[in-house]
Formats: sequence, structure tokens, C-alpha cells
Amino acid sequence: FLEGKRALVTGSTSGIGLAIARALHAEGAQIVLNGFGDEAEIARLCEELGATHSGADLTDVAAIEQMMADAGGIDILVNNAGMQHVAPVDEFPVDKWNTIIALNLSAAFHTCRLAVPHMKKAGWGRIINTASAHSTTASPYKAAYVAAKHGIAGLTKTVALELAEQNITANCISPGYVWTPLVESQIPDTMKSRGMTREQVINDVLLERQPTKKFAQPEDVGALAVFLCRDVAQNMTGANYEIDGGWTAQ
Ligand code: NAD
Repeated sequence: FLEGKRALVTGSTSGIGLAIARALHAEGAQIVLNGFGDEAEIARLCEELGATHSGADLTDVAAIEQMMADAGGIDILVNNAGMQHVAPVDEFPVDKWNTIIALNLSAAFHTCRLAVPHMKKAGWGRIINTASAHSTTASPYKAAYVAAKHGIAGLTKTVALELAEQNITANCISPGYVWTPLVESQIPDTMKSRGMTREQVINDVLLERQPTKKFAQPEDVGALAVFLCRDVAQNMTGANYEIDGGWTAQ
């Protein structure tokens, strides 16, 4: 049902973003991929999805502007690229703070401001931001990530209100823990900051607050993104949809 719609999914060479891109492609959307990775693998993904790819570094405003100019009119904007760094606040590297705020929060502001004019003209649009259970709750040692994710939840609500009468919705999807490279990569740092084994980090830290005791799958997020693009979702806006195994119900 998405034939003729163009979707840009940031951070879609891996993990959740790739699953969202695949799910939107399966419904007929024309996909623009973004993210880093092995050139041959990205070429393979472009072929699989009939997609184009932008390697823009989303911490760089000029690169975002170039990506948006190259992409043309975007009907479905998925702000998904994100990274994590785990450290106590008094040891948190300043450059990591700046990068995480730029990537996990400011990049979404820039893509929104550049995508919305086309959506207004088209009289239809969908903005879907991958937030996190950390958009409404906190965990120690994740100052920049939690701040950025709370920020994107606020940005989403604001944009939703501004565009409410123009058939453009803006929502967050907030996963708890999804088994992706981002989660896997924070295990060593958490082992170090907490003096734990890998198994302890998985069971006692990562899944500690996820009552189902199961990681969500990237495809679960892709399915919700597709639903938010449907006409039946036209009155769902400014909301924050959790896929967190009950985490934020506690
Ligand atoms: P991932 O590490 O698998 O993928 C991240 C993607 O972002 C990759 O495509 C990477 O190339 C891209 N990227 C990284 N830095 C970039 C930059 N500077 N410019 C452009 N692209 C860049 O991560 P993931 O787990 O799939 O996470 C995707 C989103 O989901 C993030 O916003 C993350 O915070 C959020 N999230 C993930 C989980 C989880 O458990 N995995 C939970 C909640 C929220």
C-alpha cells in the first residue's frame, strides 16, 4: 500500500533501521538507505531493496542537508540512527556527549525541517522516530543517550502538534532491548563499569527491567512502523509507542 511513497530511513545499514527499511520496502515504498558499513554489503542491500544509499554522517549538518537534497521529496521519514556510550557522568567523554546529542537528537530536527515542506505540499506524511524506553525512563551511566532520547520524544510531540491538520503524523517507537549490534556492543563497557560477566550483564542489567525477559526483534519494530503508515493510523500522532516487554509499565 506504499507504492509511490519515498521513505528515508536513517541508520538503516544495520539492526532496527534495516528491518524498518525492509518492512516498508515489502509494502512497496521506494527506500533511501543511510548509514555506515562495508561497501559491498551496502551495495547488496541496495540491490535487495531497489534502494539508493546515502553515506551521510548525521553528526554533520552540511552532510544531512546534502543527503536531503539528493534524496528528493520524502513522504516517510524514519529517524532511527543512534549510538550509545556508557560511562559515569563525571567521566563521560565530552566528545561522546556531543556526538550522541548530534546523532540521536539534532539529526532528527534537521531531517524534519528539511522533509516537512515536501510533506506539506503532498498533503501526506509520516515521521517515525526510533526513541527508546530511555525516552521516558533513565538508567545510570547513559547520560547522553537518555537526554537525547527524552529530547526526541519532545521533538516528536512538538512536530506532531504543528502538523496535526496537514495529514502528517509524527510518532515515536520506543523499544526496550532489541537484539542488535548496538546492544551487543555496549556489553563490554557495561561489564567494565559494573565489574560483571557477560551473562550477568545480559540477565541482570539488560533484561533486568524487561519483564518478558525476552529481547524484542528488529522485525517487531518494522511491523509497527508499517502500521503507523496506514490510513487507519492517521489519528495516531504525537504518541510514543513502546515495544519494551512491559519495561515502562513498572
Ligand atoms: P545499530 O548499531 O545496529 O545501527 C545503527 C545504525 O546507525 C547503523 O546503520 C549505523 O551505520 C548508523 N549510524 C551510526 N552512526 C551514524 C552516523 N554518524 N551517521 C549516520 N548513520 C550512523 O543500532 P540499532 O540497535 O539498530 O539502533 C537503532 C536505533 O534504535 C537507535 O536510535 C537506538 O538508540 C534505538 N534503540 C535501540 C534499541 C536496541 O535494543 N537495539 C533499544 C531502544 C532504542
